[in-house]
Amino acid sequence: MHIPSISDIANLIAGQDVRASSGRTFEKLRPADGSLLSNVARSDAEDVEAAVAAARAAQADWATRTPVERGQLVRDLALALQARREEVADLVVQETGKSRELALGETDAAVEMGFFVAGEGRRLYGRTTTSAMPNRTVMATRRPVGVAALIVSFNTPLPNYAWKMFPAVFCGNTAVLKPSEHTPLSAAFFGRLCQEFLPTGVLNVVHGFGAEVGPPLVEHDGVDLVSFTGSAATGRWIQERAGRRLAKVCLELGGKNALVVCDDADLEQAVDWSLASAFSNAGQRCAAASRLVVFDAVYEEFRARLVAGARNYETGPVISEESLERIRSALEGATIVAGGERVDRAGWWLEPTVLEDVPPDSDLSCTELFGPVTILYRVADLDEAIALVNDSPYGLTSAIHTASLHRAMRFADAAQVGVVVVNGGTHGSEPHMGFGGVKQSGTGWREAGVEALDVYTEWKYVNLIADPGKV
Ligand code: NAD
Repeated sequence: MHIPSISDIANLIAGQDVRASSGRTFEKLRPADGSLLSNVARSDAEDVEAAVAAARAAQADWATRTPVERGQLVRDLALALQARREEVADLVVQETGKSRELALGETDAAVEMGFFVAGEGRRLYGRTTTSAMPNRTVMATRRPVGVAALIVSFNTPLPNYAWKMFPAVFCGNTAVLKPSEHTPLSAAFFGRLCQEFLPTGVLNVVHGFGAEVGPPLVEHDGVDLVSFTGSAATGRWIQERAGRRLAKVCLELGGKNALVVCDDADLEQAVDWSLASAFSNAGQRCAAASRLVVFDAVYEEFRARLVAGARNYETGPVISEESLERIRSALEGATIVAGGERVDRAGWWLEPTVLEDVPPDSDLSCTELFGPVTILYRVADLDEAIALVNDSPYGLTSAIHTASLHRAMRFADAAQVGVVVVNGGTHGSEPHMGFGGVKQSGTGWREAGVEALDVYTEWKYVNLIADPGKV
């Protein structure tokens, strides 16, 4: 495989490494120490045009391949990614500052998604149904949507590419991947690896800033589907713009996820899960537990253990100076019981931070910070906990810690979210499970699982009418 240069990242269009047509680049810095990592193609509408044209040119032929063949290619690709997991994890560590352990785990998760999607090649089931008319059979079959724009966040780059790109191309679509400007290395590597297995133009990668690459991609008439993972603010903009031309849009957005600790919880376990849910990946997870809702009877003990744990928690840097400053300014005036300070070292590190006495209707309670910050709330009982969990513009994931099956079931039923976890963390999905949220966490689609097939295919109903007169 031709390995893209780390210091100079180009777009991948129709199988070629190409610089931005303007010749412009931007600097990608290492979050861990602020040093220069790469110069990256700073693309604009002209580069988007070329990438969409390449994807469109490849789509018709790609769609004629059988699902079995496309599944086999996805499997080969996933195997190749597995073989190079160390190499790709190194790139992710450099571009995000996360631990090697996390980067390896994420790479493995991306591989698993490839294996799951590849298996669909032997299924991709449709349905047959009866009719009110005699001699008529109806088949519901899945067809590719066409050209897909895949726009993703920086937080877990490999799973973010895999969650979209594997099902998209498996279903017979071709794609333009717009990775986050913060993770160009892993995207360049992933694009190159795909090039080894997929026909030219099936996957194209366009680097650059959201404001410069996003609009021409979202508004392009040659793009049939926009599949987006990122903030609610960007998602809202995309839905509006793509909606004007009635393109299909799938949005996977943010969260302000709550973890509830009841008075009958195993406190040690609840604290461990709270710390991991709030602070792993420096809190930059859509499913991060940014609200901890604790029963009055165990509040003081839980708080003391949590604060001690937070002080010792090893979290990574946040992704950029801008992100760090945004989070710090949001903390101004808040009651901080642990952390809250910028760590005295190069790069963009914030201490794991715990807040309390934050009104539930305040900006801090309602806005996703996407950093290592969590808020403690005190409640009297389960009814109050459920009301607080649901008092949020978001509804992605939630967790409850309790020894009571009754409480767990009541909570699972009442929580207005897409994922509930009992006695664990507010974590994400596995490849075979759908993942997504309600309210401002999404628009009803589910990624991963067989649910992803609904994003990347359209149903077509084929009516077969046999004329009984003709034998
Ligand atoms: P973001 O919205 O700033 O950016 C996401 C992507 O959109 C980036 O590639 C960016 O360049 C691009 N973009 C920005 N403006 C655009 C525009 N006008 N048109 C098109 N594209 C544009 O989000 P982020 O900071 O990268 O990621 C953090 C957010 O992502 C959080 O809200 C987090 O919860 C969410 N997220 C959600 C999930 C999920 O599955 N629900 C998973 C991971 C992250």
